[in-house]
Amino acid sequence: MQIVQAPDAVLSSKAQKIDKVDKALLQLIADMKQALLTASDPVGVGLAAPQVGKSIQLFLMKPENDSPISILMNAKVTLLGKPLQHKSKKGGATLEGCLSIKDIWGTVQRYPRVRVTYMDEKGVTKTQVFSGWPARIIQHEQDHLDGILFPRRVLEQQGTLYKSHKDREGHDEFEPLEI
Ligand code: ZN
Repeated sequence: MQIVQAPDAVLSSKAQKIDKVDKALLQLIADMKQALLTASDPVGVGLAAPQVGKSIQLFLMKPENDSPISILMNAKVTLLGKPLQHKSKKGGATLEGCLSIKDIWGTVQRYPRVRVTYMDEKGVTKTQVFSGWPARIIQHEQDHLDGILFPRRVLEQQGTLYKSHKDREGHDEFEPLEI
């Protein structure tokens, strides 16, 4: 399954609500799980349906290496708290990236917590509060469903975009982009 790359119209379209979980949708979810698991550079932590060419309100999330994949459909997201720059455990700002925008990274201010009401793959409606890294992923993925890619957030917030490339040892190096 190919990941759609920007600029592609599907990435800037508003996604449609899902009526019911049927066989075709379950197959799509299975294919997207596989795509998320195989994404390795960067590692995939989230994948929204428009990124595989389907303009529907569905995204997958896998915040950590060992976390299970969560499936969220028709999500209604309430932002909680005040937006803040996500800080990693080391204290530096975490750069946000996207499987649809290769080698581009940026500092994005997201809200620390979100309350989400969504339908899971069994068609069951759930409400859950997420904080920290999962809350950031949800805001990034929900933006995809609204046709918004993270560089737009970076520009709105006058943050910095970076381009990455590999150094001789294969480590990522980040170079600020002039905007
Ligand atoms: Zn993305």
